[in-house]
Amino acid sequence: MDYQAVLERVAADVAPLIGSGSPAEYIPALAAVDPRRFGMAIADVDGKVYGVGDWRHPFSTQSITKVFALALAMAHGDDSLWERVGREPSGNAFNSLVQLEYENGIPRNPFINAGALVVTDILQTLTGDASSELLEFLRQESGNPDLAFDSAIAESESAYGDRNAALAHFMASYGNIANPVQTLLDHYFWQCSIEMSCADLTLAARFLARHGLRADDSRLLTRSEAKQINAVMLTCGTYDAAGEFAYRVGLPGKSGVGGGIVAVVPGRCTLCVWSPGLDARGNSVAGLAALDSFTTLTGLSVF
Ligand code: GLN
Repeated sequence: MDYQAVLERVAADVAPLIGSGSPAEYIPALAAVDPRRFGMAIADVDGKVYGVGDWRHPFSTQSITKVFALALAMAHGDDSLWERVGREPSGNAFNSLVQLEYENGIPRNPFINAGALVVTDILQTLTGDASSELLEFLRQESGNPDLAFDSAIAESESAYGDRNAALAHFMASYGNIANPVQTLLDHYFWQCSIEMSCADLTLAARFLARHGLRADDSRLLTRSEAKQINAVMLTCGTYDAAGEFAYRVGLPGKSGVGGGIVAVVPGRCTLCVWSPGLDARGNSVAGLAALDSFTTLTGLSVF
């Protein structure tokens, strides 16, 4: 497969959409990003990376980090994680509070904010420093030692973080948060603030295409656990648009309000696309179209 030629076709296909939608405004530091950015990268399972547009430009990973936090919590911990968080699509917005009360403080899945807060809480208990553990893992897998937290983003999220604080306190009232809520929120905001490029993210996500094997060929997850994460990405990775994403793209995927989306073709490659203009459900407009175009052009989907 000539991935470079495919990327160039995809970029041409989606050019009219670049700049559509609007950057996330509820985190003021994210609203300042130029909505006309577009980049896309593919890493094959051997680690060769192809790219187009702004594929080397770092952006705010946001909820994409929820995949990596889940992988680390599964790698360090055990199946008891699934007693504290479900694995069903929520059908609600990523930051919704509404299901939590009638489901007794157990979030629907690890990729909505409530579920990700539980996963970060578990990782914090397991490692004592959830966000540093995550950053170190991402540096190793991407081969980029310069990856860092963006303190301006983390501070902006914290300053406007009442909704995430509400989710965390509410779950704590059900006994589903073990660490002090403020400690958990700090790690969660640091986690979301990590800056990475499409190239970095395709390399870091490669264990999902390699059935659980890390970049150095050591095992992070069992084959079965890698399948489980890919399955939850497919069904829950783009929140209340997961059905539409599966319909159009047909791959496990995880989006973030920074405008990035990571997708996985198990056994073949990982993809990352970035364009900051978001639709009403918080997913990149041009990013979704680019992944749709990729699977249509190549036939590389899980279906
Ligand atoms: N940091 C963001 C939040 O907590 C992440 C949301 C997202 O990327 N969907 O609201």
